[in-house]
Amino acid sequence: MGKQSIATKREKQLESQDDGSQAQEHRLDQMAHSTEPAQVPSKQSWTIEDSEELYRIQGWGEPYFSINAAGHITVSPKGDRGGSLDLFELVNALKQRNVGLPLLIRFSDILEDRIERLNACFSKAIARYSYDGVYRGVFPVKCNQQRHLIEALVRFGKPHQFGLEAGSKPELLIALATLDTPGALLICNGYKDQEYVETAMLARRLGHTPIIVLEQLEEVELVIEASRRLQVQPILGIRAKLSAKGIGRWGTSAGDRAKFGLTIPEVINAVEQLRSAGMLDSLQLLHFHIGSQISAISVVKDALREASQIYAELVRLGANMQYLDVGGGLGVDYDGSKTNFYASKNYSMQNYANDVIAAIKDMCVARGLTMPTIVSESGRAIASHQSVLVFDVLGTSDVISEIPELPHDDDPLIIRNLYETYQSINVDNYQEAYHDATQFKEEAVSIFGFGFLSLPDRARAERLYWACCAKILQIARQQDYVPDDLEDLEKIMASIYYVNLSVFQSAPDSWAIDQLFPILPIHRLDEEPTCRGTLADLTCDSDGKIDQFIDLRDVKYVLELHPLQPTEQENPKSGEPTHPSALIPPPAYAPYYLGLFLNGAYQEIMGNLHNLFGDTNAVHIKLTPKGYQIEHVVKGDTMTEVLGYVQYDSEDLIENIRRRAEQALQENRITLQESQLLLQNYERSLSRYTYLAS
Ligand SMILES: *Cc1c(COP(=O)(O)O)cnc(C)c1O
Repeated sequence: MGKQSIATKREKQLESQDDGSQAQEHRLDQMAHSTEPAQVPSKQSWTIEDSEELYRIQGWGEPYFSINAAGHITVSPKGDRGGSLDLFELVNALKQRNVGLPLLIRFSDILEDRIERLNACFSKAIARYSYDGVYRGVFPVKCNQQRHLIEALVRFGKPHQFGLEAGSKPELLIALATLDTPGALLICNGYKDQEYVETAMLARRLGHTPIIVLEQLEEVELVIEASRRLQVQPILGIRAKLSAKGIGRWGTSAGDRAKFGLTIPEVINAVEQLRSAGMLDSLQLLHFHIGSQISAISVVKDALREASQIYAELVRLGANMQYLDVGGGLGVDYDGSKTNFYASKNYSMQNYANDVIAAIKDMCVARGLTMPTIVSESGRAIASHQSVLVFDVLGTSDVISEIPELPHDDDPLIIRNLYETYQSINVDNYQEAYHDATQFKEEAVSIFGFGFLSLPDRARAERLYWACCAKILQIARQQDYVPDDLEDLEKIMASIYYVNLSVFQSAPDSWAIDQLFPILPIHRLDEEPTCRGTLADLTCDSDGKIDQFIDLRDVKYVLELHPLQPTEQENPKSGEPTHPSALIPPPAYAPYYLGLFLNGAYQEIMGNLHNLFGDTNAVHIKLTPKGYQIEHVVKGDTMTEVLGYVQYDSEDLIENIRRRAEQALQENRITLQESQLLLQNYERSLSRYTYLAS
């Protein structure tokens, strides 16, 4: 984990460095008086402001998420325009309506607010730079294809003539049937065949404004031919491969060797082909896309400079240019640090709009051109904030770190050594003590391997080692500088929180590309989170975990969480009939809910069925003057459904089990009651949610 080294940590442009360090000092002060070995000492009065700072809510959540006086997450789906709801209460209300966890909550008002904001930023920029043209955004359907979302988006986009972008044939079908805003653009990207091209061209007859963007040289021929055959004059665009490079994860979306777009020689070739077909008038749009989650504004500016010149050259070559499509890439500040870190971005939406407008205007003025309609294809920046995944913690596994008992004289030397190390740990030698303890523990394992240490003694040695680690960690946490070799200590000592969730289904980018999402409890935020943990999901895949979390500097490898609380045992009122569920033992812990935020882009469709955990329940919530309204409930997959995806028929499965049970009954291997219970459970499970009941 070399990237964790303090020396190499990125330079941050901290906006509130003073606040941060003061709070830090305050916490250290508290710790100095603590005597508890492993737990983080309790601050006298933890406030919701402390939680807000710890989880950086303002950084990534403004203006939609904050904490209320009850210590619950509050959602203000209309942003600054007022109205809010308590997320914890909402989850409980949904549970009462039999919509269980894990649960994806989509706030349509947030979606509307994002569209409003993007359009407002471009309007402002257009006014500020006296830009003599308009902005016509489109939403890339690939970012989140869910019907309810796309329908809402089209509705919210109407006042701005907001359109859609399709990157494939099925997405084109969605866009054609859903978009009904006069004048809104329908940008047709992706690889195309004859059917795609024909469908897009004929859509003009339905009143759509489809723009077919040429991504491959072969498509030029296809388009010329279809246009002749159908007698439709299409609007065409060209996607150019810029040499301005993107950076980060999607950096290779641009550049000469990028997967998509035409190289400059190919652009010239396409123009000539269109010219000889008499179709140069159709070529009206230049498109580029330099990758997603662009974290540095300088990258956007470089690309704009190059693309603007290509645009001007296309005009000079005789194309009837009307639109400049700057693609997607507008970033989301997942860690709230406002930096060019991959999980952040060092610019605001307004900066972005300003830079786009200014660069294009400069070029037009310099080259005496009419200013084009500006198109952008922001997906992530529009869809991320609107959904929150809420899931529950099923249990924890903690490192035992009690104060060890005194060794006896006849205990093995290794035990006495470890105990001595434990005793000696202090602020001057804690680093050395860590190395000693680690070495002794390794020795203990090795001696055990040769048969010279009993299993109980090995257990004692390991417990002593944990006790040393806990004591050292407590000291290390008080230091301003933690030596590199001690950084693993937090990870070693972290609890594992088992969560009712599949990372592969609900946060695939966290697994696939280490993307960071803000994760935090949605309640108990008025209480200090005294534990440190990582999250382990339901799958039996060791990659099914989350052990990187947002931080002001780089990432952190443990998340501050609360200890689970044992459930209060309720005494059933006498005289009341016993409900059958009373026979099922109550859960050992009071519910503890975590929220994973900003996951509305890409995660749903890229999620997979690893271990056959299916789609989660999803609800659409809309704010009303009186509170909120549940617009849609989309039930998650049942086991019958996920088994169907892999070609199992539930009737056949039940029949198979029934036959086996019958045979076992005949052979007296099972009682009638047992076989009935088995069959009942089997059948009932098939119609249930794939996640654990909570
Ligand atoms: C994926 C994609 C987008 C969306 O990018 P975001 O980073 O989500 O804004 C836009 N245009 C094209 C061509 C894309 O492939």
